[in-house]
Amino acid sequence: MYPRRAIVWFRQDLRLHDNEALTEALSSADEIVPVFVFDERIFKGKTHFFGFPKTGRFRAQFIIESIHDLREALREKGSDLLVRVGKPEEAVFALAKEVRSSWVFCNRERTHEEVLAQDALEKNLWSIGQEMRFSRGKLLYYTADLPFPIQHTPDTFSQFRKEVERAVPVRDPLPAPEKLPPVSLRLDAGEIPSLSDFRHVDIEPDPRSSFILKGGESEALQRLHYFVWESGLAAQLKDERDKVAGADYATKLSPWLAHGCLSPKLVFHELKRYEAETGLNDIGHWMLLSLLRRDFFRFMAKKHGNRIFQRRGIHGDADTGGADDWELLQSWIEGTTGLPFVDANMRELSHTGFLSNRGRLNVASYLVNDLKVNWQMGAEYFESVLADYDVASNWGNWNVVAGVGSDPREHCCLNVLAQAQRYDPHGDYVKLWLPELKGLPPDKVHQQHVSYY
Ligand SMILES: Cc1cc2nc3c(=O)[nH]c(=O)nc-3n(C[C@H](O)[C@H](O)[C@H](O)COP(=O)(O)OP(=O)(O)OC[C@H]3O[C@@H](n4cnc5c(N)ncnc54)[C@H](O)[C@@H]3O)c2cc1C
Repeated sequence: MYPRRAIVWFRQDLRLHDNEALTEALSSADEIVPVFVFDERIFKGKTHFFGFPKTGRFRAQFIIESIHDLREALREKGSDLLVRVGKPEEAVFALAKEVRSSWVFCNRERTHEEVLAQDALEKNLWSIGQEMRFSRGKLLYYTADLPFPIQHTPDTFSQFRKEVERAVPVRDPLPAPEKLPPVSLRLDAGEIPSLSDFRHVDIEPDPRSSFILKGGESEALQRLHYFVWESGLAAQLKDERDKVAGADYATKLSPWLAHGCLSPKLVFHELKRYEAETGLNDIGHWMLLSLLRRDFFRFMAKKHGNRIFQRRGIHGDADTGGADDWELLQSWIEGTTGLPFVDANMRELSHTGFLSNRGRLNVASYLVNDLKVNWQMGAEYFESVLADYDVASNWGNWNVVAGVGSDPREHCCLNVLAQAQRYDPHGDYVKLWLPELKGLPPDKVHQQHVSYY
């Protein structure tokens, strides 16, 4: 008898714990062949509307590190990770023919480009009598557990949250497998590419950055452990989250969550455990709210499809009227608009690939409401540079800022000057990223239209 063989196609689930596709493959097949494909369209291509590099160097580096870590973890358990560069629908298909598998297991994606790739692969597999088996793995909640069908998901976050929080428990995360069956065939493991393969220069960490991101499940678990158990930071979560500077004002888990190095269910359950052990209340609840926002945007993307990318957004009624103004956009990107708080945030973003939530809200609001630039330009620039880029979270948040989201009342129009004074009262953050302003006294730092370039 031939062994029943399954391919496990890792996508945005770069971990062994709580990995449904992996767990299901192991229960169906005698042998598994894990593979990751660096999709050349994603790593070498351009963004859809405005042609930015689709995956900037910070995200590319983070994913490369995550793949090294995943390969090592799989090897430690007795298996391996094959790595390919190309189109998944061709590379995984070629592998399926080569190893004569019965199935390809993967976690299902819901956004346009990811769906095109998985549909094309499924079609190819049918032609050789094999099939795809889809699992879930991205969210806190399962669609099947929701108290409403997707098409009836409430369009306002507050309503969504009320209905879900009340009715649905968060399932336990699945454990990582203890051992894995070896890949018995002699297959080319494939080399993990480096940044230069994607035409990026190497990254020299910026000494001003308070937090060096490193991809991979083991780094993610370390950060979670540090945040919850070692540092006591979890206890301050509620009060610290809106800060803009420092390594520890929020969890900083987003890049690992975005690329699936960390399961949101695990994060939630760790915080609940911390609550139970310390007697502190409400910490799990604060985390739940953040992770629920993430789920909400994913469900909105599922419900409204490609409308999240369109100029009129999910809502579809109002056009924000923003112009495709490359000159203004460029000054925003380079951090030379003349408004120090915006410029400091934009420079931090371009030098590190990361930005606080408060920073993101302010720079996005400034682009849309003050500079009156088309919000899609900002969203695509973020798509390019963010290390934690997540399709639904990025486009969903930009929909909200631009007032074209599912709930237009959520339109976020901030007084950026007032925000700067509130969140950077002494100007320390601005001075860190705009050394030109170092000599100014605190009450002069946050002036509009400073000429420093
Ligand atoms: C214009 C704009 C674009 C954004 N683009 C992204 C993106 O591409 N990827 C991304 O993960 N987040 C995005 N966010 C949301 C948020 O800014 C980041 O998730 C957060 O700053 C990450 O830091 P943290 O991990 O310390 O968050 P914490 O405050 O510690 O929150 C914990 C986790 O909850 C989730 N979360 C919290 N707030 C949000 C939110 N508003 N929307 C979605 N998820 C949330 C994230 O997974 C985060 O890691 C965007 C926000 C704005 C305003």
